[in-house]
Amino acid sequence: MTREEMLARARGRREPWDLVIVGGGASGVGVAVDAAARGYDVLLLEQHDFGKGTSSRSTKLVHGGVRYLEQGNVALVLEALKERGLLRQNAPHLVSDLAFVVPNYEWWEAPFYGMGLKVYNLLAGKYGFGASEILSRDETLARLPTIRTEGLRGGVVYYDGQFDDARLLVNLVTTAAEQGAVLLNYSPVTGVTRDAEGFVDGVVARDLETGEELRAGARLVINCTGPFTDGVRRLADPAAVPLIAPSQGAHLVFDRSFLPTDTAIMVPHTKDGRVMFAIPWHGHTLVGTTDTAIDSPGLEPRAFAQEVDFILETAGLYLHHAPTRADVTSVFVGIRPLVRSGDAKSTAALSRDHTIHIDASGLLSLTGGKWTTYRNMAEDAVDQAATLARLPDRDCATRTLNIHGFHPSAERFGSLSVYGADALGIQELIAAEPTLGEPLHTALPCCGAEVIWAARHEMARSVEDVLARRTRALFLNAAAAIDMAPRVADLMARELGRDAAWRSQQVHAFGALAAGYRLDGALNGRGQ
Ligand SMILES: Cc1cc2nc3c(=O)[nH]c(=O)nc-3n(C[C@H](O)[C@H](O)[C@H](O)COP(=O)(O)OP(=O)(O)OC[C@H]3O[C@@H](n4cnc5c(N)ncnc54)[C@H](O)[C@@H]3O)c2cc1C
Repeated sequence: MTREEMLARARGRREPWDLVIVGGGASGVGVAVDAAARGYDVLLLEQHDFGKGTSSRSTKLVHGGVRYLEQGNVALVLEALKERGLLRQNAPHLVSDLAFVVPNYEWWEAPFYGMGLKVYNLLAGKYGFGASEILSRDETLARLPTIRTEGLRGGVVYYDGQFDDARLLVNLVTTAAEQGAVLLNYSPVTGVTRDAEGFVDGVVARDLETGEELRAGARLVINCTGPFTDGVRRLADPAAVPLIAPSQGAHLVFDRSFLPTDTAIMVPHTKDGRVMFAIPWHGHTLVGTTDTAIDSPGLEPRAFAQEVDFILETAGLYLHHAPTRADVTSVFVGIRPLVRSGDAKSTAALSRDHTIHIDASGLLSLTGGKWTTYRNMAEDAVDQAATLARLPDRDCATRTLNIHGFHPSAERFGSLSVYGADALGIQELIAAEPTLGEPLHTALPCCGAEVIWAARHEMARSVEDVLARRTRALFLNAAAAIDMAPRVADLMARELGRDAAWRSQQVHAFGALAAGYRLDGALNGRGQ
């Protein structure tokens, strides 16, 4: 899968594609996999890198959503629990079971949460991840050695799924390509074309690497641009009534000492009535998230000072050693593409169900939903798209489709386990050139062979693509990622045939971007 080959195929196509997909996040790439697996001709265009938007910035949970159960949205929970099971089945190298403990400090919490989590598990049926259980105080402490002990009565343990969102996305891009789709990153869609009756029949895009204009005809254009959905809808109809109420969620990352265990903490009711998680992730502790309405989406959202304070304060209520700003190794923010509702009082109350919206121009938008349900969302969207575009009826094939990298016991590859079967290819690179196996930083296990692999096989085009999404260095430890950038730039320049000017521009650009992931960098100025 090389970008050069993808570009040549996009350029060379004369007849219309069955489907052109705008947006390379979970929704768009999910649709590309589904449609290509049914045998439709598919082109996907992403304005930046695959996963640059929300899909690399989630809480990394493959979950039914305990909170939605509390809100009474049983249908969404049922759907998500089923999808959770399918995702673990189809991508076991990236999705794993994780124990979550709800710590109890009040007498009523154990029976209350114990019962709710039993229902949660029952709803999962044959896709269940393990039975929930009420824990004594000692059992809770054994699972969570750093939990605050004053007033601790016990806990309730339940099981859910965890994943690496950007790695799953990259593997889905490869899966779609293997099924015949053409996918291009760094190709923003800037306009639409119309047929004689005024219906959208294609898109105009720009290849950011050559500056060349790309035109692609389509039987149907599917808009999967998440928080940017309304912007693309306005390309087809400048007066389109907005569909999205964007809301951002921040996460703070700390080192493993704050949660030196393989069990996560789930706080079911924060001060603002939300759920908060502290989870072990890639040898670090990830804590989040918030839900703050924002006016308009951006590609690099920044945390508000209040969000940082809120997460630190909440973590401090549950952890024996309260973390401070100085302990934060990375801060990252994602934007929820929530669908507007006239009567919702806050974005936390807006539905997490997905929506398929068809504009009068014939543009189909798929938005909302969750990472966990991306496959089901895609199935739904392609069913409707096939009808609208008068494509031959073909059954969805993704319920049992292995995702690229599928490996039943990838943990044997150690720090390369997220690559699944591809770890063997990375090991071959190291065998041929042993220095490529050396870690690029003492704080993180990423090695040079991963950089070469990303540039050669995963369409990584910049230092940021490698450090933010092919590896997760930026999201784990921003300072370490900045230190790694020069070496990553050297390796990429070698692999992609770039010159010294490219190398220094890349190091500079990455340093500026990564400053926004450090708390001593920039916070969002609003309301500080
Ligand atoms: C804080 C937070 C935590 C979350 N945690 C979880 C979780 O733990 N589990 C879970 O299941 N779900 C979670 N979610 C939800 C999940 O992450 C999202 O539902 C999902 O990632 C949305 O994917 P998307 O493809 O619709 O949007 P995005 O990932 O944002 O993708 C849209 C893409 O469109 C591209 N684009 C925009 N305009 C154009 C254009 N003109 N041309 C080409 N491309 C364009 C963007 O660059 C972007 O890459 C979370 C969400 C947030 C915000």
